Amino acid sequence: MQTGPVPPGSGWPEDPATTRTPVAATAAQVRELAATAGSVGELAALESVCRACPRLVAWREQVAAEKRRSFAGQRYWGRPVPGWGADDARVLIVGLAPAAHGGNRTGRVFTGDRSGDVLFASLWRSGLAVEPTSVTAGDGQRLISARMSAAVRCAPPANKPTTGERDACAPWLAAELEQLRAGLKVIVCLGHFAWQALWPLLATAGYDVPRPRPVFGHGAEAVVSGSRDRKTGALTVIGCYHPSQQNTFTGRVTDAMLDAVFGRAAQLAGLASPRQ
Ligand code: SF4
Repeated sequence: MQTGPVPPGSGWPEDPATTRTPVAATAAQVRELAATAGSVGELAALESVCRACPRLVAWREQVAAEKRRSFAGQRYWGRPVPGWGADDARVLIVGLAPAAHGGNRTGRVFTGDRSGDVLFASLWRSGLAVEPTSVTAGDGQRLISARMSAAVRCAPPANKPTTGERDACAPWLAAELEQLRAGLKVIVCLGHFAWQALWPLLATAGYDVPRPRPVFGHGAEAVVSGSRDRKTGALTVIGCYHPSQQNTFTGRVTDAMLDAVFGRAAQLAGLASPRQ
């Protein structure tokens, strides 16, 4: 069994990159390359080979080499986990960052850990996913008019990216918003970190961000108007407590609470009624 990060274009299911995908090695190069992407697919490829944050590159690759004992027989992805889902999403779900043994192992955002299990089950019940589980890249799971992304695309030690790492990664999410803007109706922020990271990016993308900024809470909603010049329609931002293991174990987040948020997101986006 090979260890360490998966080389781009080496046959990993759903790998968006090839051996020729340009690699961003600095925050400035992230900004430059993010601006060149012509589609969400191109953007995902560029994201998936990024090496701009030395601490996060070292951590994600160390985790991929050492592995958790229960996954010792598996290859770890060990690269940035790019945005994933529909190219013309009406609902964008934004989390904090991939988990060391979840997304960093499977290569798909929110896949391979308990948070993702809870999240995907709710997305399925809400009509936003074709399967109730997301196990590994290439498993047939697919989002319906929805896309998932993260404020930071590499697994951080202790799930805590620094402010500098968040800022270095922000152009990837900003470019994703730009690519999706024509059809995007709703953004669901999983947790306070994602909520905070989103507002400056929406302002840069031409949305009229409320002042003061809306306060994060579970089910909190804020409508932001778009700009005619930049062809942005209005969208609704919804807060959702992060379905972390701690939050689900303590009952701070329940299945019903997640279903309420994603059902509302589907309704606002004009999507089919939930499977309940
Ligand atoms: S966190 Fe973002 S900017 Fe930093 S290395 Fe990962 S993908 Fe690149």
